[in-house]
Amino acid sequence: MKCRDMERYITLFINDKLSGMRMKEFIEHIEECSVCFNEMETNYLLKEALLRLETDGSYDLHGDLMEKLKNTKRCVEVHEMITMIRRVVLICAGMALLFELVFVYAFYL
Ligand SMILES: [Zn+2]
Repeated sequence: MKCRDMERYITLFINDKLSGMRMKEFIEHIEECSVCFNEMETNYLLKEALLRLETDGSYDLHGDLMEKLKNTKRCVEVHEMITMIRRVVLICAGMALLFELVFVYAFYL
């Protein structure tokens, strides 16, 4: 993901609309690129500050942003784990099928 793509993704992230591979790429970029991180932080702080002025919410905006990033990262990790488990299950199923075919050919045909 390049910096020029990030503007759109930052908006999606702040509005909780980012998922799957895009979420993973976003987190990877934001952790490496301080320019985009600052851009995201500014956007987030502006949006949340306005919201919380209206609702009298918490003012630890930076802490909340870090929490949001941490949760998103956890989401990406869980997603990757599920993908890996799915792959392992598919491989096992494939091997079982192959074994069954070999078994059938060897003993019954
Ligand atoms: Zn960047």
